Amino acid sequence: MPVNKDALWYKDAIIYQVHVRTFHDSNGDGIGDFQGLEQKLDYLQELGINAIWLMPFFPSPLRDDGYDIADYSAVHSSYGTLEDFRKLLDSAHRHDWYVWSDTEARYKEARIIFLDTEKSNWAWDPISKSFYWHRFFSHQPDLNYDNPAVREQMWNVMKFWLELGVDGFRLDAVPYLVEREGTNCENLPETHNILKELRRKVDEQFTDRMLLAEANQWPADLRPYFGDGDEFHMAFHFPLMPRMFMGVKLEDRKPITEILQQTPEIPSSCQWSLFLRNHDELTLEMVTDIERDYMYDMYAENKMMRLNLGIRRRLAPLLNNDRRRIELMNGMLMSLPGTPIVYYGDEIGMGDNISLGDRNGVRTPMQWSGGWNSGFSTAQPERLCAPLIHDPVYGYPAVNVLSQRESEHSLLRWMQRIIAVRRSTGAFGRGSIEFLYPANHRILAYLRRLGKDAILVVNNLSSTAQAVELDLRRYKGNILIEMFGNNIFPRVGDLPYLLTLGPYQFYWFRLRRV
Ligand code: MG
Repeated sequence: MPVNKDALWYKDAIIYQVHVRTFHDSNGDGIGDFQGLEQKLDYLQELGINAIWLMPFFPSPLRDDGYDIADYSAVHSSYGTLEDFRKLLDSAHRHDWYVWSDTEARYKEARIIFLDTEKSNWAWDPISKSFYWHRFFSHQPDLNYDNPAVREQMWNVMKFWLELGVDGFRLDAVPYLVEREGTNCENLPETHNILKELRRKVDEQFTDRMLLAEANQWPADLRPYFGDGDEFHMAFHFPLMPRMFMGVKLEDRKPITEILQQTPEIPSSCQWSLFLRNHDELTLEMVTDIERDYMYDMYAENKMMRLNLGIRRRLAPLLNNDRRRIELMNGMLMSLPGTPIVYYGDEIGMGDNISLGDRNGVRTPMQWSGGWNSGFSTAQPERLCAPLIHDPVYGYPAVNVLSQRESEHSLLRWMQRIIAVRRSTGAFGRGSIEFLYPANHRILAYLRRLGKDAILVVNNLSSTAQAVELDLRRYKGNILIEMFGNNIFPRVGDLPYLLTLGPYQFYWFRLRRV
């Protein structure tokens, strides 16, 4: 069982989203597996993340990228056995992974979060009282949580995994759990009753577990899914991500400040979850048609890069492999209010392969080294579950963990550093946010505060150098300590605080009265 329990652990988490199939292959069959992931836990610990989100690994015909799950209480045989999964869980829980705290240094186990419940792929068999996969069959009854037997079976499935030791679930398409004739089935009151019941059961029978809502909606519409702190612990903040990309492209903070102003307060035990793509695409559902066209023009000129209502590209190619913009985007991800999710491989700037269909373009094997099969597998290359990336810029000889580990200035080293700095204070995970509105609209500046901790974040969204004057009068007498180098900047006085920033540069300052 996990030790050092902390019911709000998810607020301090840095989540790493991983596809077991393409992460690391331990048995040389060309397919990533649980043992392979277990062998790489030290790497994740070194990176500084403390929670792992496993994408679907259930038995599945793999016709919908693993979302066409065939049995919720088993694992896909090519990934290993249930026992292998149990060992992975135990091993992750045994890792003592540091979490934040200025005043009390604590260590804590890693968390394993998973279970993608893609409701639309499922149907209910009233005779056997079980779920079955129906995605490609028509005229099947829907999986409707209005049915008590469906709810009971879903709880049994969740209980199975919770008893095994998983720390959380991502529940998919939550606004549509209950279906009622004569309604569009979205956000029905019955759905909330069911969620409250589910949460109550989780809390009564287990400790420190987390429920994460997937609902591609506006923050105000999502707010009811937190209830009074008695429904979901966390929910994805969908509309923020495209606006971060927009802000950088337009060199204007407005898209970002606007959406966060529209984001309602949530109960103190709840948290938003942030990402730079969800989960392997830049989703564009929560933007206007004009904004979507703009985003397509700016970030996906090739139609093959588009998928559903989104863009299927990795972070580095989206940003033209511009290290400054990659750092700025990660800087915002780590400092805006919420729990950040890092998509596997983005920490080394991996590329994508848009000639592979659907989501597979961004699910190529992890690039561990410049050696055989990028260190992913010892299989013959033609047996790999997905082709490696070979191009000169993003190919594994150029972009891999081994070489970046050896270079002090690599993206990987920088990611380790920013995660460590984020973890040095609870203000980013748990603190309040207040925007400053300097005259220079290319600057996005905000204060994050928790107790006596006050952090000033200043981002230059522009491709050119900028000067900014910040109104910090209420902090008169404080000094600014730059958090990456612990260097002291001038004391705040009566005049507006003047800063200059290079292209796409950002600062995190600790405010200290000394
Ligand atoms: Mg394998």
